[in-house]
Amino acid sequence: MSINGVEIHPGSPCPHSTGEGCDDYEHRPVDPCVSFYCGWVLPDSPLPEWMKPQRAKVIVLFDKLRWQGRPVDLAVPVGRRIPPRALNWLKRFSEQHGRPLLFTEQIVVDGRFQREQQVFCHGPPDFQEAVQEVLKAGGRLW
Ligand code: SF4
Repeated sequence: MSINGVEIHPGSPCPHSTGEGCDDYEHRPVDPCVSFYCGWVLPDSPLPEWMKPQRAKVIVLFDKLRWQGRPVDLAVPVGRRIPPRALNWLKRFSEQHGRPLLFTEQIVVDGRFQREQQVFCHGPPDFQEAVQEVLKAGGRLW
């Protein structure tokens, strides 16, 4: 994505990021910053305390897209991949609540993060087939 004209991507963080927060929070752009809702801070978030992104190393975006009228959640790693404890929690939540899950893993070549991500899905077989079809066709899921 682009922040005030600066391209940012995995391995190349926003120049306003201090590692703890934003050094220009008051003036952050609407898209993507103001309009971004981390699933952990939502008032009615089902995520437990330990799933805070800096601890669990995952950012969850609830209801990122819809499939057959159902909400699909997206989980992206803070780092290369989502740690097993957090991913297992998310898969169980997906199964218990009938919410298909998409999650990503960063592609790393020669120790460098690439801009592409690998996408995985967890949910009913027809959901998984639908996702694979989109990916095979080179389409975007979100
Ligand atoms: S809120 Fe936006 S501008 Fe601030 S550090 Fe995060 S991505 Fe950068």
